[in-house]
Amino acid sequence: KSGFAAIIGRPNVGKSTLMNHLIGQKIAITSRKPQTTRNKIQTVYTCEEGQIVFLDTPGIHKAKNKLGEYMVNVAERTFKDADVILWLVEPTTFIGAGERHIAEQLKNCKLPVILVINKVDTVKKEEVLSFIDAYRKIMDFAEIIPASALRGQNLETVIQSIFKYL
Ligand code: GDP
Ligand code: MG
Repeated sequence: KSGFAAIIGRPNVGKSTLMNHLIGQKIAITSRKPQTTRNKIQTVYTCEEGQIVFLDTPGIHKAKNKLGEYMVNVAERTFKDADVILWLVEPTTFIGAGERHIAEQLKNCKLPVILVINKVDTVKKEEVLSFIDAYRKIMDFAEIIPASALRGQNLETVIQSIFKYL
């Protein structure tokens, strides 16, 4: 099996960390500063089951300026190449206009969307569960997976879910 998985989500949720952990190399730039990843970065994950090409995207959000506008466009174009979308969120940011905006765009593109609740190492289990409930209300997800990109927690589940939709 092989195909394309686009990683999307707000700046700083851990998209680059997730990709780096999966690939096992520091390919995408991670930092504490939001919006470090300004361009689409492609990396390839290979295992016995097949190959996944990851498309790392700058944060998809409502543009506040020209650079922001450019970054949103890069993210939207990435959808056209993707077989499945990995939407990363963190359980510390509540659902707001930004998330609803992303959900609307995802509904339009009609691809399976895997929601990864990242950074579960930073919150209690009950908080993760209430996040899952809240997200279920804004759209239909192919899967919802709690994970920690930093600690490598549940990433095998993420990989297996991606393969399911390739
Ligand atoms: P991006 O902007 O979405 O690409 O986010 P980055 O991958 O650059 O990560 C932003 C910050 O969050 C970095 O300081 C990461 O170390 C941190 N981070 C990413 N994933 C996790 C996680 O699972 N747990 C914790 N505690 N921190 C994380
Ligand atoms: Mg990044």
